[in-house]
Amino acid sequence: VAKRLEQFKTTIFTEISILALKHKAINLGQGFPNFDGPDFVKNAAIEAIKDGGKNQYARGFGVPQLNAAIAESFKKESGITVNPDTEVTVTSGCTEAIAATMLGLVNPGDEVILFEPFYDSYLATVSMTGATIKTVTLRAPHFAVPEDELRAAFSSKTRAILVNTPHNPTGKVFSRKELELVASLCKEHDALAFADEVYNKLVFKGEHVSLASLDGMYERTVTMNSLGKTFSLTGWKIGWAVAPPHLTWGLRLAHSYLTFATATPFQWAAVEALRAPDSFYTDLIKDYSLKRDILVEGLKSVGFEVYEPEGTYFVMVDHTPFGFENDVAFCKYLIEEVGIAAIPPSVFYRNPEDGKNLIRFAFCKDEQTLRDAVEKLKSKLK
Ligand code: GLN
Repeated sequence: VAKRLEQFKTTIFTEISILALKHKAINLGQGFPNFDGPDFVKNAAIEAIKDGGKNQYARGFGVPQLNAAIAESFKKESGITVNPDTEVTVTSGCTEAIAATMLGLVNPGDEVILFEPFYDSYLATVSMTGATIKTVTLRAPHFAVPEDELRAAFSSKTRAILVNTPHNPTGKVFSRKELELVASLCKEHDALAFADEVYNKLVFKGEHVSLASLDGMYERTVTMNSLGKTFSLTGWKIGWAVAPPHLTWGLRLAHSYLTFATATPFQWAAVEALRAPDSFYTDLIKDYSLKRDILVEGLKSVGFEVYEPEGTYFVMVDHTPFGFENDVAFCKYLIEEVGIAAIPPSVFYRNPEDGKNLIRFAFCKDEQTLRDAVEKLKSKLK
């Protein structure tokens, strides 16, 4: 293994999903829906495959119609008009957008700030650039941004800060005030902002604020999103990055030599997805609010301290009432003895001790599965 990846292991999501299968546990670990995305999008992919002429390499930075559809939805969400050809890049999921952004815009020796707990790929991709990582920890129960610590994390070497809102794994939605603080520090230190907003349509409380929409931020922000979470199509791996031309150029170069292009028929289907009527999004929230309530209430009734998520399809809890040594030991017990798979969040911290009291559950599952999971927890843990 190359030195830059020596410290990493198999991703926790892969590890837990394999264990879930082995023990026939209900998988509330890896965040993928156990139901499919809408028929109108799936049918559009089938049509695109059958059509002919939509099965060879796409234009490297995206099928033109999809770039246009992304520009249109970005305008709706942030109020900003962007040029689909010079400011939108289609990638293989948001994970590739993150990697391309890091590799295309960050130099060895730069500093990159991450909020902790962080989604695991951030640490790995920053490591691949040779940059130094600075972390700012969001602490339970509210996971609020600690202003002084954030200020102290910025320096003359800060190249970028990565902000994931709504936030995986905590379910936190960054407030406008917190994002304004991030924005003012970015401007003060002439730093870039990388905004991973893949859960922007899954907000139950408060409002999603796009970092790029804040005063003076668009010119220094890469905004990333994808189809997977909103349309329950995580396996399609259609993502994108929206950024001003000078930043798009860097990330696009990395994208060109990493994957070059993304699956053509799925890009055509993504055009249809982004044309969904507003009612699609209101139904989505209604549906996910119910799922969230089933799991949150269930976890509370079993005795967990539950940090109610404002967004995403994850919920973090404190497992200490059950007396286990740490999150890994508790997850092992959950899978093997209770029949439920969940994620041990210590992997999302640089110092595993900081996450040892926490467990992350996913509620992107059909109602019956969530109710069955709650019953199992009640019968084995209570
Ligand atoms: N985003 C998903 C989660 O947090 C995992 C995606 C993956 O397995 N890489 O559960």
